[in-house]
Amino acid sequence: MLTKADRVAEAFREFSARNTKQRQAIADGIVALGEAGKAFPAEALLTELRLASPGIGRATVFRAIDKLARLKILDRIDFADGERWYRLCDSPAHHHHLTCRVCHRVVELELCLPKAKIEAIERKERFTIEDHEISLFGLCEKCSKKASPRMAQD
Ligand SMILES: [Zn+2]
Ligand SMILES: [Zn+2]
Ligand SMILES: [Zn+2]
Repeated sequence: MLTKADRVAEAFREFSARNTKQRQAIADGIVALGEAGKAFPAEALLTELRLASPGIGRATVFRAIDKLARLKILDRIDFADGERWYRLCDSPAHHHHLTCRVCHRVVELELCLPKAKIEAIERKERFTIEDHEISLFGLCEKCSKKASPRMAQD
């Protein structure tokens, strides 16, 4: 199985044969954040990359993120508070997410819609369904303890 770093490197090769220094820096930055299992806003990656290479362009970084998201190497995570972050997930296969609306913790879920139900919707609505999204939102254990301190004392 390909590692996260392999998946990113392969995707970068796919969208350009030229492996510029900048592109390598972006790939490394994404892998570093992704290996830690962290989700991140595009802006945070830019800030991180500029520590080492101050000249790196915003458009270049954002374009790379967008392309990786299109290739489904990076998952787009839309949080309940309207923030959009990105994540290099463990599973390269189709999956969904459970997210904490306070600390932005992300859990990968194997849950999906039953195929038969999607096909029934296609027939009924006369649609060709190409893709779908399911997001589960809520409070993680840590954040729900903070939200109700009385429960934490038990
Ligand atoms: Zn994911
Ligand atoms: Zn939380
Ligand atoms: Zn699904």
